[in-house]
Amino acid sequence: MAEYFIPYLKWVDMKNLQCFFILFLSLSTLQQRFCLQAYGPENQLKKLEKETTTIKQEIPNVIITFLGAPGSGKGTLAQLCAQRLDFKVFSTGDILRNQIAQKTELGLQVAGIMRRGELVSDKQVTQMVLEKYDENGDHPVIFDGYPRTKVQAKSLLEHLKQLGRLEKFYVVALEIDDTLVVQRLSNRLVCSNKNCQAVYSLLFRPPVEPNICDECGGVLSRRPDDEPESVQERLRVYARHEKILMDFYRESGCQIKTLDVGEKTIPQAFWEFCSLMGIEEE
Ligand code: AMP
Repeated sequence: MAEYFIPYLKWVDMKNLQCFFILFLSLSTLQQRFCLQAYGPENQLKKLEKETTTIKQEIPNVIITFLGAPGSGKGTLAQLCAQRLDFKVFSTGDILRNQIAQKTELGLQVAGIMRRGELVSDKQVTQMVLEKYDENGDHPVIFDGYPRTKVQAKSLLEHLKQLGRLEKFYVVALEIDDTLVVQRLSNRLVCSNKNCQAVYSLLFRPPVEPNICDECGGVLSRRPDDEPESVQERLRVYARHEKILMDFYRESGCQIKTLDVGEKTIPQAFWEFCSLMGIEEE
């Protein structure tokens, strides 16, 4: 009789074990999802939205340039300042990517340069960005990714001087470790739908379905210049120009502020930026 039941009992044990594992895996996936929803950047942003409704202070017409390595979060911070504080943002990287998407003459000229992680010519970038800036009038502005070289910085300062706005100019230097930058960029995915371009992070904000955009169903892909070889080249280029730029800003008597963005959450970086610039809750 016992011999008859033992294989059956073993089979029941195996089934229980399988059920246990399936239950365990489902629970841990649910927990991961919960943690991401509760603590991921999207929720941080929602929380921030509530918290920042109290900012009523009028932002002075400052002109800020974010100086930071690729992947330091210049773009995210700039977009937050646009949404929450009504800054106008000029991102040279975004403007150039749009030119490529629209296949304009400039776009065709710069596509290869950008894919390799090199810099577009000073003349082309300066002309493009200052034209847009002039259309803007006297409004609080953030330059994201401009100036990148001393020649560009000279052109910007001369332009602001001519407009009588030089004393409103600030350099905000974002500090972050290279290892964190490489980690962030190698985990970044962007929606290939030109009208969407939502940005995901496999570390902090993975899409629900792998490689599919949650917002529009578009295909997610890595930016060509986020491929490892290009990232290394971009970091080399940045390091080469950063010191020269900082020296130039110091010699020119510019107002310089430093913001450590290393291990910070998005709201933390944003609040520190606000307090650095004297933007307080009323
Ligand atoms: P970003 O999105 O700021 O990381 O810029 C992406 C790429 O656009 C850079 O690697 C450069 O090829 C090009 N780019 C953006 N801004 C500039 C600039 N100010 N000067 C030259 N090239 C730029």
